[in-house]
Amino acid sequence: MKTEWMQIIEELKRIHGKRNVVPLHEPTFSGNEVRYVTDTINSGWVSSVGAYVDEFERKLAEYTGVKRAVAVVNGTAALHIALKLAGVKANEEVLMPSLTFVATANAVAYLQAIPNFVDVSLGTLGIDPTKLEIYLQEIGAVRNGQLINKQTGRVIKALLPMHTFGHPVDLEPLLQLCKKYNLILIEDAAESLGSYYRGQHTGSFGLFGTLSFNGNKIITTGGGGAILTNDIDLAEKAKHITTTAKIPHRWKYEHDEIGFNYRMPNINAALGCAQIEKIEEFIDLKRQLTLTYEQLFQNIKNVELFKEPQFAKSNYWLQTLIVNEKSRDELLQLLNEEGILARPIWNPLHEQIMYQDCPKAELDNTLYLKKTVINIPSSPLF
Ligand SMILES: *Cc1c(COP(=O)(O)O)cnc(C)c1O
Repeated sequence: MKTEWMQIIEELKRIHGKRNVVPLHEPTFSGNEVRYVTDTINSGWVSSVGAYVDEFERKLAEYTGVKRAVAVVNGTAALHIALKLAGVKANEEVLMPSLTFVATANAVAYLQAIPNFVDVSLGTLGIDPTKLEIYLQEIGAVRNGQLINKQTGRVIKALLPMHTFGHPVDLEPLLQLCKKYNLILIEDAAESLGSYYRGQHTGSFGLFGTLSFNGNKIITTGGGGAILTNDIDLAEKAKHITTTAKIPHRWKYEHDEIGFNYRMPNINAALGCAQIEKIEEFIDLKRQLTLTYEQLFQNIKNVELFKEPQFAKSNYWLQTLIVNEKSRDELLQLLNEEGILARPIWNPLHEQIMYQDCPKAELDNTLYLKKTVINIPSSPLF
């Protein structure tokens, strides 16, 4: 096995251009980034005023096919505000995968609401609709139009699926469950800009979708995020409370509620405007890398390259291997010793100290993937 793996490592090094260290994912700045950022510096408008924020929001809405996009400081803030405007309140529950980045649950906790962790499907790595339905039949009851968790007595307000590593979840049955159980759908699309479910962009199916432009995501603004919605009133509310809830006036400081300073600075939006011009190129190169990896791993025992679900076109943000659990950690160690910065999947959130007492479903697939998934270098190769 070891010699076979050393051959893979040599191949990975060759594919990634014989560097000493191959990062998991790094940003590419090959377009108008310097020009647009320099423009904000030369004009002096680097911060809370400037045209790039409006332009970036317009481009995001156009690209994802939603009516409005509101740019904010990061993806976690986008989730926080989306959940707040969806009406999620203290002591209400939000259904989400346990297998996600901690921000998904943190945003719920900021509102004193409670994550309720459900299992993922092995075919999508995102929420499994069949298992969710069984869980809701068991614990849920609709009373006065509200879904109540019979085990905790709390209202279950929303469903928050996440599109893992860019691969879309099966949204159609989830939408049906939302209708049946009166749940609000919010999509954590932080990893899936450029990914489509049956031809429609992820993040555009629910009341809100949220994006992240952190340095490791498919496009970056340094740090940043966005709220997507087709509801223009809610988009205006999102803009208002992410910009300190100030009533527009040329000089007066009047605010009509407790707002947040979550606005994306103009200098970051300038970077975003240049990055989004390149996204199709990034996705093409990532999909080419998938084909290269497919060949590399096709005859390797105990290792399987994860492919997009048949109903989806994925951005392949992070390339994913499912490795036999007896060999996974050994492979991970070998890759890292050789400078190939592979990473395991997140520790599931129901095992994190802050969330270990939260309600949860049976999580067999989550526990299996925790032991078997690794991500390997995924930057677009030019
Ligand atoms: C990156 C990410 C976020 C939020 O990211 P920020 O770092 O706050 O921009 C949220 N959810 C998931 C699944 C993510 O991968």
